[in-house]
Amino acid sequence: MAKTLRTPSAHVDSWYSQTAHAAPEHPRLQGRETADVVILGAGLTGLSAALELAEAGLSVIIVEARRVGWGASGRNGGQVIFGYGCDQAKIAALVGIEASRVLFSWSVEGVQLVQQRLHQHGIDADWREGHAHVAIKPRHLDELKAWQDDLASNYTYPVQWWDRDRLQAQLPSPRYLGALYDPRSGHLHPLNYTLGLARAAVAAGVRIFENSPVLSLVRGGRPILRTADGEAEGSFCVLAGNALVHGIAPELDDKIMPVGTYVGATEPLGEERAADLIRNGMAVADINWALDYFRLSRDHRLLFGGRASYSTLPPPNLAGTLARRMTRVFPQLAGVRFDSVWGGLVDISFNRAPHWGRLGDKVYFAQGFSGHGVAATGLAGRVIAEAIRGQASRLDAYARIPHANFPGGRALRTPMLVAAMAWFKLRDALW
Ligand SMILES: Cc1cc2nc3c(=O)[nH]c(=O)nc-3n(C[C@H](O)[C@H](O)[C@H](O)COP(=O)(O)OP(=O)(O)OC[C@H]3O[C@@H](n4cnc5c(N)ncnc54)[C@H](O)[C@@H]3O)c2cc1C
Repeated sequence: MAKTLRTPSAHVDSWYSQTAHAAPEHPRLQGRETADVVILGAGLTGLSAALELAEAGLSVIIVEARRVGWGASGRNGGQVIFGYGCDQAKIAALVGIEASRVLFSWSVEGVQLVQQRLHQHGIDADWREGHAHVAIKPRHLDELKAWQDDLASNYTYPVQWWDRDRLQAQLPSPRYLGALYDPRSGHLHPLNYTLGLARAAVAAGVRIFENSPVLSLVRGGRPILRTADGEAEGSFCVLAGNALVHGIAPELDDKIMPVGTYVGATEPLGEERAADLIRNGMAVADINWALDYFRLSRDHRLLFGGRASYSTLPPPNLAGTLARRMTRVFPQLAGVRFDSVWGGLVDISFNRAPHWGRLGDKVYFAQGFSGHGVAATGLAGRVIAEAIRGQASRLDAYARIPHANFPGGRALRTPMLVAAMAWFKLRDALW
């Protein structure tokens, strides 16, 4: 159960919090507040739903345990990518190819929605176009080519195939053999994007309460989010607590495994040296299970992410581990130090597909972004808002994706997942 916070909490120390735009602090929830919709969590999912609902004229309250963007939304790798946390082929296997096509096209809408909101609300979040999924091993080349074929033939979404020479011209790293390049995906400063969405939501009338952990959800005709000192009651409730929420709706907890992932910001490299690492400024992710992902910052640092932790405990010597991984990609960065390193939790679902839907007819939720949520969260908020306003067809399409519980409950889940992940890491290492 969440602990009660008596003093305002700060964002986790990171390059993002060090470069965040000034943002107002919101009050704690005290006493009784009512609105058409009450939302748990001020990350991208909760803020997206709030913004859509407020723009449609509904009154909205967000109750946030810490600060706006305190969770994954303010800490992530900033990569804004089409699709979901699992392969589209997996979604096709779960719901059929026709439904999979529709779900894929909505994921592309999620990428467009990010850019649209940046523009519409004047959010300065360092947006840059371009993203490459890169191959480390020969089998990855086959996987990328099969993926490109699938995207072109089943989803009419063309991405560019880059052989080693073409990739090297943009990303001079000895580690990669080829890439799928998508000019429509991109990257941004996720905390500034999240704070910008909050500003837009407040301007549209949304009331945000920070430092107010929800301790329980009272279900019923009018759901209530209860904190230590107050309660928010609405006609509808949205649960958008991601990997951090626990004990509010147990049937959701069983579908999610919190997994730690980590990012570091190097010392400033200087404009020329940084530009020579990723010449076209794209974001990059490999396709290993325990993947590396990286991009350049506006102030010419490399932001390098990787190193999953299935125990959710921060790994010892995180900066050293990230440095080792980084110099496998860029040997020329040997000796470059990380000015800050930080981590966060992602909400992995068993099949890594999105888990969005409702509990009864008053409580809505979105989770299971599985490390792939910067774009998909915006869409989740939008389709939940549509459903609350009476247009549930898109949310229902997501709700048809079947989801299994993690076996063994919370106590057994972690060791089992650690064992499963050890296998995937071994597979990454061997083949
Ligand atoms: C290190 C890292 C790197 C990542 N990189 C990428 C990437 O490059 N690209 C990508 O697409 N995705 C990435 N992701 C995933 C992406 O960040 C998430 O999918 C997305 O931010 C989830 O947004 P959210 O709003 O659902 O959850 P969150 O941002 O986690 O927000 C949930 C909020 O709910 C609040 N909360 C929880 N419990 C309570 C409670 N009891 N009461 C009140 N409030 C509560 C939390 O404090 C939090 O602010 C990454 C994630 C991490 C951690």
